[in-house]
Amino acid sequence: MNYDTLFRTQLDGLRKEGRYRVFADLERQAGAFPKAKFHGSGGVGEVTVWCSNDYLCMGQNPKVLAAMHEALDRSGAGAGGTRNIGGTNHEHILLERELADLHGKDAALLFNSGYMSNWATLSTLASRLPGCIVLSDELNHASMIEGIRHSRAQCIVWKHNDLADLREKLAAIPAETPKLIAFESVYSMDGDVAPIHAICDLADEFGAMTYLDEVHAVGLYGARGGGISERDGAQHRLTVIEGTLAKAFGVIGGYIAGSTDMVDFVRSFASGFIFSTSLPPAVAAGAAASIRHLKESAVERERMHERVAKVRARLDELQIPHLDNPSHIVPVMVYDAVLCKQISDLLLEEHGIYVQPINFPTVPRGTERLRFTPSPAHTDADIDHLMSALQQVWARFQPRRVT
Ligand SMILES: *Cc1c(COP(=O)(O)O)cnc(C)c1O
Repeated sequence: MNYDTLFRTQLDGLRKEGRYRVFADLERQAGAFPKAKFHGSGGVGEVTVWCSNDYLCMGQNPKVLAAMHEALDRSGAGAGGTRNIGGTNHEHILLERELADLHGKDAALLFNSGYMSNWATLSTLASRLPGCIVLSDELNHASMIEGIRHSRAQCIVWKHNDLADLREKLAAIPAETPKLIAFESVYSMDGDVAPIHAICDLADEFGAMTYLDEVHAVGLYGARGGGISERDGAQHRLTVIEGTLAKAFGVIGGYIAGSTDMVDFVRSFASGFIFSTSLPPAVAAGAAASIRHLKESAVERERMHERVAKVRARLDELQIPHLDNPSHIVPVMVYDAVLCKQISDLLLEEHGIYVQPINFPTVPRGTERLRFTPSPAHTDADIDHLMSALQQVWARFQPRRVT
């Protein structure tokens, strides 16, 4: 048996479909965002990054870096253990308080990533509550799907953001059965937003818990960056609010926030929390500084939303199709996997513009796209440069246009 041949056969399949992933070898430059060094076949060049999830450049914010340097020098590199065995540093406690306050909840719990917080929390809640049925939005993130699957609880998938479908599915479950509705606020690939209050109304009517992934909204929406649930005044209605420290907050880590009992329950039973070394204290200090800053400063959010509007208006002028949505995510539609990759390669090689092609299974086949995330640091000149490049590329490859 030649195992490498088996691996290669499957990899060749990915290549044929145009969805073999090639990582861009970048070198971020603190203070230079959105510019970064790019290590390509022809040597090292400079690129403008247009697809970062460091939405507000907080990963290079001087306050965040100072907090990390200070904690690193004070406490050293690693946390020293799992939370239970020597690894709870005071920085973790302070960060959890910051997060609970951000979401108007009694308690919060840190994980090493947003992926892990979704996976561990959903699998723990759904498996430990006897007979629990999970109602999962069909566009939920892979980490949520994996967590639900791991719980082995029954999972009913409802149509994306479709309240009538959710109602019908809730109504078909016996009243006394424990239920958990799992959904996101801002969906990361289409950039559309869930009707949180209406979903909570259904949860109240049918006695269900609610689990909201706010990964693409924390730091970006709400007066203090508490996400769509803060903006909509719905924080108190949700059983679990889940978020990441790695996107708008610019560092790394994930968390949940909720009632003292719910958080204590996950803390006490979730394997993915218990058996993994906690985040380095310097990381926790940096994340706390980032959250504190964005609670008080709206400058970054406002500037980002202004940049997003500008990019959309310019795309409209060029008749380049992009999904219309109420968020900061600008998906430019190519509708073809191979073409999407070709366009992305050309933008990188000839124009110094880095935007990753988004293909199946991240999005359905035939809806391949380039996902742009304009940030407060993208200048008018960056936007001009991007538009002139897109105009040339669209003329050359003739992808579908707005008609
Ligand atoms: C990125 C992402 C996650 C995972 O968060 P990480 O902190 O990057 O592990 C969870 N949910 C959604 C919707 C995401 O896009």
